[in-house]
Amino acid sequence: MALLQIAEPGQAQAPHQHKLAAGIDLGTTNSLVASVRSGHAETLPDAAGRHLLPSVVRYRADGIDVGHVARTEEAADPLNTISSAKRLIGRGVQDIKTLGSRLPYRFIQEHTTVPRIQTAAGDISPIEVSAEVLKVLSGRAEETLGGDLSGVVITVPAYFDEAQRQATKDAAKLAGLHVFRLLNEPTAAAVAYGLDKRAEGIHAIYDLGGGTFDISILRLNKGVFQVMATGGDSALGGDDFDRVVAEWIMQQAAIGDDADHGLQKRLMRAACDAKEALSDTGVTKVSITLDDGSCWEHELSRETFNQLIDPLIKKTQMACRRALRDAGLIPQEVNEVVMVGGSTRVPRVREKVGELFGSEPLVDIDPDRVVAVGAAIQADILAGNKPDDEMLLLDVIPLSLGIETMGGLNEKLINRNTTIPVARAQEFTTFKDGQTAIAIHVAQGERELVSDCRSLARFELRGIPPMVAGAARIRVTLEVDADGLLNVSAKEMSSGVQTSIEVKPSYGLTDNEIETMLRDSIAHASKDKLARSLREQQVEAARTIEALEAALSDDGDRLLNPDERSTVEFALEELRGLAQSDDLKIIKQGIEELERVCGFYVERRMNQSVQQAMSGHNVEEFE
Ligand code: ADP
Ligand code: MG
Repeated sequence: MALLQIAEPGQAQAPHQHKLAAGIDLGTTNSLVASVRSGHAETLPDAAGRHLLPSVVRYRADGIDVGHVARTEEAADPLNTISSAKRLIGRGVQDIKTLGSRLPYRFIQEHTTVPRIQTAAGDISPIEVSAEVLKVLSGRAEETLGGDLSGVVITVPAYFDEAQRQATKDAAKLAGLHVFRLLNEPTAAAVAYGLDKRAEGIHAIYDLGGGTFDISILRLNKGVFQVMATGGDSALGGDDFDRVVAEWIMQQAAIGDDADHGLQKRLMRAACDAKEALSDTGVTKVSITLDDGSCWEHELSRETFNQLIDPLIKKTQMACRRALRDAGLIPQEVNEVVMVGGSTRVPRVREKVGELFGSEPLVDIDPDRVVAVGAAIQADILAGNKPDDEMLLLDVIPLSLGIETMGGLNEKLINRNTTIPVARAQEFTTFKDGQTAIAIHVAQGERELVSDCRSLARFELRGIPPMVAGAARIRVTLEVDADGLLNVSAKEMSSGVQTSIEVKPSYGLTDNEIETMLRDSIAHASKDKLARSLREQQVEAARTIEALEAALSDDGDRLLNPDERSTVEFALEELRGLAQSDDLKIIKQGIEELERVCGFYVERRMNQSVQQAMSGHNVEEFE
């Protein structure tokens, strides 16, 4: 007789049903894979015991190298060795024209929307490069865990837009992986630290990697955490530290800007080695082989290095302050600061971040691995291995969403940094009598005028029954689902006529555009307010004119004698002349004057409509 199985306390009821899942940190510089084994999340090493896999792929005529081998060959074969796929993924040919100038690759930009790179193994896209990295990592996981992966969680920078996220998913598909979901890197780090299990509080995740910087402000509440704000810079990281050190070397060694690709790569390598060494010592030796075969050597001190990188650290501090402001917090309100990313090993970074927040940042978990560990924990939950886990991860929308109202004003319905999913509705009305359609224009941005924001979608709601201006009740609902997709619907409440449209809010919007838009909104805040008031006044004047014209054509002949009528028309003409003035006060006075002059007429019309309404009814009905 077979023995009955009893599960070990605390273990899953049916261990044989445990689904294999992995978390992958697909980094710009390094990538990692982690998995939950025996209830514990850990990164998985390769056969040589190395956890980090350089995100570098070399395309040879007769094969592909991924990781360490590719990185070693990078300097010797720069054109066929792709190390910046994450910077390029999901970007269009246009973006590459600006981004690509810094990269040595041979880009093919004709007849294609996705940029491709010429290599010895043929033309490849950044998506294919990332797929190669994912294949190696998932292969490592399947070998280590002894089975097929049911799915993976892949992390992306919080700032990644829709196109970049989609391209990352495409890379996973190419690698034959099922993606449970993409997860923001800082959020994954918070999961790794088990912050959701700790006491309530507010935490900042400072992630400075090789090529990206992310800051996230999280609030923990009853074991659930919420992203209060995110910010960062997708083009700032340890690579930039390398670049300023390389520039310093070029200056010191009198190397011109015309250095060939090979020397450039050697310079970057030497700069990177020096930087990493300076995390542990106060001074280090920099040496580089020049093109003529001679060797140049010099010392670099931590003080000099600090001076070189201070402007870059300052940029990250500014992004932190911005995120704090968005969250409505001052630095001291942050309980803990979590350091993530290899570049947070730099002592100066820790020092400056500590100064900003007024507390010692947390560094106890290896900053290289923390993101992959968090992704693994999330993957384990999504694979269904922990059905009763209640962890919720909430994302935020990067820019406010609004609707254009009369005068080209942006009426914000959902403010930036609102957590998703979210739905907000607001009622609007018609501007003209008998209006049977309204044009709905959805805009994204912080500015007061729609023309200064990004246009997301336009559609029309038709079939509104004709009513007097202002009588129709059109309810516009903006809804952003958990994947960040926006659905806009409009419904006329009395007739039930409705229409809707789905839009991708961040598609094609680059991080720089987001930043520029935010900066502009701050710089223009007071000017915008004035512009808004002026537009409002102009709209008000137009509305008054519109209403009076309608009234005159309706009952002007019956209710006014010729003298009165010309008085009204004269006043109307006056306001028409003032309505487009750019002086707010003049328009306002014009409207008041018209209202004063036409007061008797308005009164007569009201009396008349009351009489009309009552005719044919018993007086009692109105009591
Ligand atoms: P990414 O998330 O962009 O892939 P990582 O988090 O792996 O990047 O960080 C890589 C960066 O960290 C590189 O710029 C690397 O030079 C830097 N780095 C790694 N170790 C150190 C160190 N000890 N001191 C300074 N920088 C380091
Ligand atoms: Mg990283």
